[in-house]
This record gives sequence, C-alpha cells and structure tokens, in this order.
Amino acid sequence: MSEIKYDQEGIVFDIQRYSIHDGPGIRTIVFLKGCPLACRWCSNPESQRFDAVLMYKKSSCVGCGKCIEVCKAGALSFSNPEFIDRDKCVRCGACANVCLPGALTMKGKGMTVWQVMQELQKDAINYRRSGGGITLSGGEPLVQSAFALELLKACKDKGWSTAMETTGHAPKEVVEQVMPFVDHALVDLKSIDPRVHESQTGVANRLILENAIRISQLSPNTVVRVPVVPGVNDNQAAIEAIGHFAKLMHGVNTIHLLPYHTYGENKYALLGREYPMGDTKALSEKTVELLKGVVEGLGLRCVIGG
Ligand code: SF4
Ligand code: SF4
Repeated sequence: MSEIKYDQEGIVFDIQRYSIHDGPGIRTIVFLKGCPLACRWCSNPESQRFDAVLMYKKSSCVGCGKCIEVCKAGALSFSNPEFIDRDKCVRCGACANVCLPGALTMKGKGMTVWQVMQELQKDAINYRRSGGGITLSGGEPLVQSAFALELLKACKDKGWSTAMETTGHAPKEVVEQVMPFVDHALVDLKSIDPRVHESQTGVANRLILENAIRISQLSPNTVVRVPVVPGVNDNQAAIEAIGHFAKLMHGVNTIHLLPYHTYGENKYALLGREYPMGDTKALSEKTVELLKGVVEGLGLRCVIGG
C-alpha cells in the first residue's frame, strides 16, 4: 500500500457511531458532503451541496439576536418570515458559532484523515469484537475520492473492515482506484429504466449501471440496495428488472429493499426548502412483501431495510 496522506482534507457532515446497518457488525458511518444526484426522496438533503449548508430550527430560537449582530452579509432578520435570506448568506458559519441554543447549525466541516481517524479510534474495540468497521456514506463518497481513498487506506492499515454506500455515479478511473479498498460495497440502484431514472434523480443511469458491474468485480462483497419509492419503482416489473441486472453483477446474491420513509422531511424545512415528495405515503406492508417475493423468485436473498 502506498504511503497514507493523513493530512488529506475532506468535507464531512456527520459521523454516526454504533450503527448496525450499512455493513456487518457495529459500524461508524462517516458522511461525506456532495452528491451528483438529486433524488426526490433524498433523506439527507443537507448532503447534496458540496460545501457547508446552514440549517435553522425555529422552535429552538430564543430570539436573542446575537446571530444578527455577527452576520456581516445582513442575511438574517426577524422581519423576514424565513429568518434567513439564503441569497445573501455566504455560509460563513459565524451565526451558528454564537447561537447557544443550537437553532442555527452548519452542516459540513473540513476534516483531515487524521482527525477522522481520531474519532474512529474511539470505537476500535467494537470493530474488533463485532466484526464491524467503518462505512463511508453521503452524499456520494466517491465525489471526494482523494479523501475517501486515504481514509480507506488508513482504516485498512488498522485492520478495520471498510464499507461504502455508493450511487455508483463517478468516473470509471475513480471507481477503479478506490473500490479495491472497500470490503463491502452497498450499491444503490433506483431504476433500470433510463427515463424514470433521469426524471427522478436528475442523472442518466448508464454510468451507474456500468459502474455497478465494475464495483462488483473490484469489491469482494457487493450488495444491491433499492430505495423502494411510491410511483417510481414500487411495482413488480421495476423490481424484477433490478433483480435481473443484479444477477449480471459479480457475486451478488442479496438485494436490500429500503421502503420509502419520510424521516428526512423535516430537514427540508430546516434548509428553507420544499419537500419534493409532497404528501407521498409510506408503502403498505403488503406491497413490501409482494416485492420481496419478486426478488426471492429470482433466486436472490432479500432483506427489508439496511
Ligand atoms: S452563515 Fe454567515 S452569511 Fe449566512 S446567515 Fe450565518 S453569519 Fe450570515
Ligand atoms: S443566535 Fe440562535 S437563538 Fe439567538 S436569535 Fe439567532 S438563531 Fe435565535
């Protein structure tokens, strides 16, 4: 393995410990900023931009006005029903630094590989005992490929298991460089139909499908994960098409169906955005069971949830 660049910087928006999803054992999830897709059902909208974003929780605001005093851009005002003029905001973070109740928070901060490793080290004993490790998520971790690569190398150097949740939307060269350091690849596939894919995620699926095959050849354990979304792919034909494609991938024998949920809805309000899915309802248990049967009918194992 080439020398590890511990001073490589990336932008991280969250580190979640003690996860039992997103790979085997107990894991720490490192969420990286930036995503080339804009899925309408995205439950991490704060991840989509490549730089930091400001979130405002009105119910936590005590009206002290300290943030208004420090905002040099004049972006904050109680007379503005939205409170933040996001066209004026330059995302400097000064307001969040003085907001004691935490009504204003910045999502996304620069961290070096060394700094992330200090956080991960706290759970090293859990990784060893449970067969867990770290999982890179996002956003799309391959967007920050230089950072992801060095972080994965540092984890492998410690002997920790590595996993990555990916959309597969990245240049071929990036996939070939990074994925050999990923023990467990969790590849999200939304639709095989190019028109459906583009209209619901904002990007074509050709590169994603090509990379899905490539990833399965490079990473020893690949699982296909399907966010099952009403009106997008919650039908037999759509899931069958994904199942047939998964069987073309190298060594894939499991599909995770992730039923649509609205957990991320409130984050849109905190970002001053409208929720793109409107009042779309969760899937019925009957539909989920039916689609599980479709996957199993193709000879694949099906897991509901992550
Ligand atoms: S992030 Fe900076 S520019 Fe934006 S509202 Fe806060 S202080 Fe003003
Ligand atoms: S500093 Fe925080 S609590 Fe005070 S007015 Fe600003 S957002 Fe509200």
